[in-house]
This record gives sequence, C-alpha cells and structure tokens, in this order.
Amino acid sequence: MSGWVAVAGLGPGTDDLVTPEVRAALAQATDIVGYIPYVARVAPRAGLALHPSDNRVELDRARFALDLAAEGKRVVVVSSGDPGVFAMASALFEALEGREDAPEIRILPGITAMLAASARIGAPLGHDFCAINLSDNLKPWALIEKRLRLAAEADFAMAFYNPRSKARPEGFARVLEILREACGPDRLICFARAVSTPDEAVRTVTLAEARPEMADMRTVVILGNSATRRVGPWVYTPRSVP
Ligand code: SAH
Repeated sequence: MSGWVAVAGLGPGTDDLVTPEVRAALAQATDIVGYIPYVARVAPRAGLALHPSDNRVELDRARFALDLAAEGKRVVVVSSGDPGVFAMASALFEALEGREDAPEIRILPGITAMLAASARIGAPLGHDFCAINLSDNLKPWALIEKRLRLAAEADFAMAFYNPRSKARPEGFARVLEILREACGPDRLICFARAVSTPDEAVRTVTLAEARPEMADMRTVVILGNSATRRVGPWVYTPRSVP
C-alpha cells in the first residue's frame, strides 16, 4: 500500500473545532508526527505510532514524515490551529524541495487562532486585516517593526501570533510602543488567551491601557483598525469605510 502525508490542523484547542476531515485522517493514520503538546492531543490506539518532537526542529520533522511515507506509512503531521498559518505545511514543502520521491500530500485546514479569537470577541476582523508573527526566530526584528509601521499606516486591523517568548521578553513591549505611536492611545486591542480551552481568557483594552504582561505564548492579540468599536460586550470592525 502506498504511503501518504497529511498535514492537519487540530484547531485552537477543543475537540469540537477539529474538522471531520481531520478526524478521518487521524483514524486512518499509522503515524503521528508533531510538536509534543499537539501530538498529546491525539488519542493513542493500537497500531498508531506517536512521534512527538521538540519545537525548533520543523524541517527535520518534515523530512522524517516524508521518509515514513516513503516506507508506505500513512502519516499525519499535526499542527495547532491551521497547518498553513505559521506552522508545519510550509516546512513540509520546504523539505520536499529537491527530493526525488514525492508521496501523496494533503493539507487539511483547521480553525486558526485568530478566527477562533475573533469569534469570541465579536467581529474585530470584519474589514481588511493582516496577520503578523511576532517571533523573530525566522526573520530579523527590523522586518517586524517595518511591517507593523506599514500595516498601521494602511489602517489594517492586525492579528499577532507568538506575541511574547521567553527568549525575547522585551519584544512585545516594543511592539506596544510602536503601535501607540502609530495608532494613538484610544485604539482597541484584544488579548485572547487559550481560546476554546479550560484556561480561556479574553479581554479588550485601549492601547493606553495595554501592558506587555497581558500576552504570553498562548495568547493571540488582535488590534482593531481606526473604526473598530464596542457594542455592548462585543467589539467589531465595520465592513465599510465612509
Ligand atoms: N498554526 C497555529 C499558529 C501557530 S503559532 C494556528 O493556526 O493557530 C502559535 C501561536 O498561535 C501562539 O503563540 C498564539 O499566538 C496562537 N495560538 C494558538 N492557539 C491558540 C489559542 N487556543 N488561543 C489563543 N492563541 C492561540
């Protein structure tokens, strides 16, 4: 039987937000490959080999998945949220470049953190927006600052992934400074932590009130655009620009 690789998004946390397509792939799999906490979300069963690995080894992990598929295994590489958003799908294609053997590959979408968070908040991404990964593991910090300034100038709402890491605790404080300077103190900013898990906590403040400690690695941060406003407990961005 010929092997395959599916790169699957497990959604933001709860099983309710795992798609039936991803469930079916997990049920057919012989091997699960991924970052330790994501592999832990897959129920063990007879005939299923679990291969959890540490975070910063994405390319090795992708090569390993391709090797297993070449041996005839049915491999699911798991990501949280969506596998195409700051996750394993790109790593798999990077590992595929230059290889002679290409197994069947499928990318199975999942609900990414910013969309799960946005639904809890109201509709902060109802108009044009962008998503920025604030980790500088894979790109220079100067590029992050440049993108922040240009996105603010274009009046995009923004979703920030990986807002704060232990390796760079001062980075997010700097981000808030830049945003205050570019967007003013009254702009709304939403902190959505561990959405759809028992630890979920979501709150919205102004940029003047925002503190770096309001975010950690389990938080996705959503900044409104200049028209984003509150209605009752909700925060939304109007669809039109007058
Ligand atoms: N592929 C994932 C993102 C991986 S980067 C996705 O599509 O969601 C990891 C970052 O995602 C975290 O630092 C955090 O910013 C965000 N994130 C992942 N799960 C989350 C959740 N349940 N609640 C809030 N943010 C989350």
